[in-house]
Amino acid sequence: MNSSLIQENIRHVQQRIETASKDAARLRSEIRLLAVSKTRTAQEIIAACQAGQTAFGENYVTEAVRKIETLSDYQLEWHYIGGIQSNKTRLIATHFSWVHTIASLKHAKRLNEQRPAELPPLNICIQVNISHEQSKGGLMEDDVLPLAREIAQLKRLKLRGLMALPAPTGDFEKQRKNFSILRKLSEKLQSEGVELDTLSMGMTADMEAAIAEGATIVRIGTAIFGPRT
Ligand SMILES: *Cc1c(COP(=O)(O)O)cnc(C)c1O
Repeated sequence: MNSSLIQENIRHVQQRIETASKDAARLRSEIRLLAVSKTRTAQEIIAACQAGQTAFGENYVTEAVRKIETLSDYQLEWHYIGGIQSNKTRLIATHFSWVHTIASLKHAKRLNEQRPAELPPLNICIQVNISHEQSKGGLMEDDVLPLAREIAQLKRLKLRGLMALPAPTGDFEKQRKNFSILRKLSEKLQSEGVELDTLSMGMTADMEAAIAEGATIVRIGTAIFGPRT
């Protein structure tokens, strides 16, 4: 997609966030836009960067590392939001600032061991399977607190919050209901003494509902870069 269109789209998404935060009586500054750049070119990422976008989300490790290296002169923050395979954890630990898709202690321990000493701790969100779909990654709600306590002990990781990817629905109230499950779970963990400041939820089709339920990071691809082919 051409650069000026990407930049116009970023402004439009910023406007959507602004309106949704007002409607939810929340501060605009509580919500960060993560531009999801999977399958997009380095050139398209530069276009978004020139519109002020600095945080980018990627799903495929090999593709992401190639772009991260190409774009190393830009001050970008990279978030890994894809499925995790054990043989890719070293690349993730080396190249990313955040991982949103942790659902096992095994992967958390590998990332903790492999996080380079010269980098700050890796920011972590635990992925929760709130729609209980087999095909989606993520932990069942009851398994989240025990994993959160384990991750809190790992020195090279910093537990930040929860992430979800609910089953798509066009119904705003259903969207809200799904996101409210993640919000309530986060509140429960905090009442148990787990420190969290992040709810990673909301994509192009449901970001308003996510913001209404307390999202602090919305992960937006299509509304910025157009439909994926
Ligand atoms: C692709 C993807 C997104 C972005 O989805 P859009 O509908 O294009 O905004 C967000 N989160 C995750 C985990 C994704 O894989």
